[in-house]
Amino acid sequence: MAKFYSSLNEIKSGLQNGSITVEELVKRYLSQIELNAHLNAFNEVFADEALTRAAEVDRSIKQGTAGKLAGMVIAIKDNISYKGHKLSASSKILENFTAIYSSTVVERLLAEDAIIIGRCNCDEFAMGATNESSYYGPVKNHADNAKVSGGSSGGSAVAVQANMCYAAIGTDTGGSVRQPASFCGLIGLKPTYGRVSRHGLIAYASSFDQAGPITRSVEDAALLLEVMAGADDYDSTLSQKPVENYSANLQASAGKKKIAYLQDALSSPGVDAEIKATLTTYIDKLRADGHKVTPIAFDHLDYLVPAYYILVTAEASSNLARYDGVHYGYRSKNATDLMSTYKRSRSEGFGKEVKRRIMLGTFVLSAGYYDAYYAKAQKVRRIIREKTDQILQEYDFILVPSSPEPASAIGKIEKDPVVGYLADIFTVQASLAGVPAISLPAGNNAEGLPLGLQLLTKHFEEQELLNFAKYFLQL
Ligand code: GLN
Repeated sequence: MAKFYSSLNEIKSGLQNGSITVEELVKRYLSQIELNAHLNAFNEVFADEALTRAAEVDRSIKQGTAGKLAGMVIAIKDNISYKGHKLSASSKILENFTAIYSSTVVERLLAEDAIIIGRCNCDEFAMGATNESSYYGPVKNHADNAKVSGGSSGGSAVAVQANMCYAAIGTDTGGSVRQPASFCGLIGLKPTYGRVSRHGLIAYASSFDQAGPITRSVEDAALLLEVMAGADDYDSTLSQKPVENYSANLQASAGKKKIAYLQDALSSPGVDAEIKATLTTYIDKLRADGHKVTPIAFDHLDYLVPAYYILVTAEASSNLARYDGVHYGYRSKNATDLMSTYKRSRSEGFGKEVKRRIMLGTFVLSAGYYDAYYAKAQKVRRIIREKTDQILQEYDFILVPSSPEPASAIGKIEKDPVVGYLADIFTVQASLAGVPAISLPAGNNAEGLPLGLQLLTKHFEEQELLNFAKYFLQL
């Protein structure tokens, strides 16, 4: 019997023939969590509750009433509300805050009998790409404990990487599901903006945020997306388009495709040599298999990161205004009146990166600079979206690395935060354009660190993306 399963079908047949129970599965993951506590992937483990629920799911399986996700033990990023459970966004300001309702994604996962084993560490308010801005400290990469997990959903990725759960849910504003998945050798899917409800996610940048799965197989990504996606009265930005049966329809795509890759990914000195070599290898494999793979110049490449950071910080400064020391979590003990409650609670409760972004966002929205920065960035976003859509009219997919570099050393703090922001270059295009994107494992570098490649496609074409991803992983 496998110690850890890599496919839900395998788990399901074990559950059916009685060789395993959900309770035993949960116990295995719990002992794995204990064994890997040094990785710092979890902010909290819901051990007793997971075991109780497991016994319930075992009963439903016996009665033949179990849901699609029976046997799936998952972890959620600590910015996704789960009623009655603490919710911190890895920030001091939400210390001891308890969610008073569940996010739509959690409700849908539970309705299909998933077991939620804990809440995962992440960058503070999902701001970052290394998980080092967390109030609870960095998450260590299981492939090399001296390296970062990636971020911001670093705990979610490492929880799957080290078999502390079967799959995990993260959130992706500008790459936070895809990039940590790539650093941990996993699959990370960011759905089309408007496909998965944001209700109950702690808002970072509302016109970008999407929840997405981190998994070992495309099958699992398809199934989790299918369960989470679809219209929700609580999120008016959601599409009413019916959700496809991604998992039942999943088949490695057979036809010949037109694929564009960014010329700059191979020519830019900022991209790691082994990542370039990996991209080249896959381009060659795709060509050898009869696909048309074409280099393209994306003229707006230099504008991606600046436009992204102006818009997300603007939205964040507004979204984070609600943490005032009165309504949620942390309140300064040093406050003497209302103003000092606001000021001190926020000064003491937020970390450095979050403060930097609130200030930047407030600046770009301020009266004298609104047109020069925020309004300009909105226009740039429109152009980037149109240009991306145009490319995707001509090509089926865009292929780019998930990150210009592999996981960096923990503590290698950049003096200039902009240098860190630039590492988001390949993930923010899909976020600005709102299109779906998936990061796929593409082997390890010489140091043994996982590398990932990313595929982007048209709005709401997740099925094609998943089908091609399945094929891609067989290359
Ligand atoms: N690194 C990006 C940022 O800090 C992406 C974060 C995310 O997707 N949540 O904004």
